[in-house]
Amino acid sequence: MPVKVDPTSTHARVTPSHALLASDTAASLSSCCDGSLLSALELTVESVSEILALATLLEQENPLKRAERLAKRRIALLFYESSTRTRTSFELAAKGLGADTTLVSSLSSSIEKGETLKDTGLTLRALGAEAIILRHPNSGAPWLLERETGLPVLNAGDGMHEHPSQALLDLRTILAHLRPGTEKVTAKTLAGVTICIVGDILHSRVARSNMLLLPKLGARVVLCGPKELLPEVAAQAGPGIEIERDFTKAIGQSQVVMMLRIQAERLAGLQLDLEEYKASYQLTEERLAAHTPEALVMHPGPIIRGLELTGEVADGPKSLILEQVHHGVAIRMALVLRALTQPTQKGVGA
Ligand code: ASP
Ligand code: ASP
Repeated sequence: MPVKVDPTSTHARVTPSHALLASDTAASLSSCCDGSLLSALELTVESVSEILALATLLEQENPLKRAERLAKRRIALLFYESSTRTRTSFELAAKGLGADTTLVSSLSSSIEKGETLKDTGLTLRALGAEAIILRHPNSGAPWLLERETGLPVLNAGDGMHEHPSQALLDLRTILAHLRPGTEKVTAKTLAGVTICIVGDILHSRVARSNMLLLPKLGARVVLCGPKELLPEVAAQAGPGIEIERDFTKAIGQSQVVMMLRIQAERLAGLQLDLEEYKASYQLTEERLAAHTPEALVMHPGPIIRGLELTGEVADGPKSLILEQVHHGVAIRMALVLRALTQPTQKGVGA
C-alpha cells in the first residue's frame, strides 16, 4: 500500500495499520537525498557499520578538532512535538561538530499561525539551513519535507511511524553490552539474541524502527502487549518478529527487555484499564529476578515510573536507560555529519 503524500496539505499521513505494515511502504518511501535518514528500512548492514564507526570516531575525537568539521554550517531543528532527549542530543551533536543550529518549534513560530510544513521548510532553506531535523506528529511528514526542500532530512520521530536514530542508539547500547568492541556489524552479529519489546507497540515509532533494524543483524524480536496495543498484524512488519502475549514467557526468553510508555497522546479515545495493564505487563524487580535476572533493561524515555516499570527497575543495576541517552549524542553526531557531507565523502574520516 503506497503512502500517498499530498504536497498541498500541511501534513502527510499514513494510518496506524499501514504504519505497522512498514514493509508495504518501503518501496514507496525511500529517501531522495543521500544524507537523509527517514526510516530504519533504508539502513543496510554496511551503512549501519559506517554510522557506528563514525559515531565512535567522533566521540573519541578531540572536541576542538571535531568542532572544525561543520564549522558555521547551518542546521535547523524543526520540532512540532515536545522532546527532551532527542532534541537536546541532536542539538548537542550538531554543535559538537561546530554547526550553527536553530530551533523552530510549533509553539513559538509561524506554525502556530497556520504555516504549512512545506512553507516552513522552504523558509528554513532560504535562511541557509543545509539540513533539517524534523519531529512531527504525522507519519510520513519527513518524506514530504525532503521532497519539497531538496534538503537532507533526519527523521527525529514522525507520528506513530518511525524514530530511526533511536533504533541506532539502542543498537549501539545493546552492542556495547552484548558484543563489546563490535563496530563492523553483519547479518549475524546479533544471532542468538532475543530482544523483547513490551507495551504500546501500536503507537510506538521506537518499536517500529527497532523491529525493522535489529533483525537485519540477526536478532529475534519478540513483541509483547495486549491486543489493543499490539495487533496481530505487527508480526508481519518484517522478518524475525514474533508475538508472545504472556509477559513472563516473553521476558523469560530475552537477553534484552525494552519497555515502552503508553503513548497517551495517541490513544484517540482508547480506554485502558491501567491497573489491569500493570498487573499483566509492569516490569517489577520480582518479575525480573524470577524470569530473566540477567536481562538488560531498556526504555527510550520518557519513563512513567510505576506504570510500565517500577522506579526500582528504572534505577536498578540492569537498567541502561541513561546509557541509551548517552549513546544518542554519538549516533546523532554521525548522522548529522553524514547529512552534510557528499555521498563520495560519506563516512568522512572513518
Ligand atoms: N520523545 C522522547 C525523546 O525523544 C521524549 C522526549 O523527547 O523527551 O526523547
Ligand atoms: N521518546 C520516544 C518517542 O519520541 C518514546 C516516547 O515518547 O514514549 O517516540
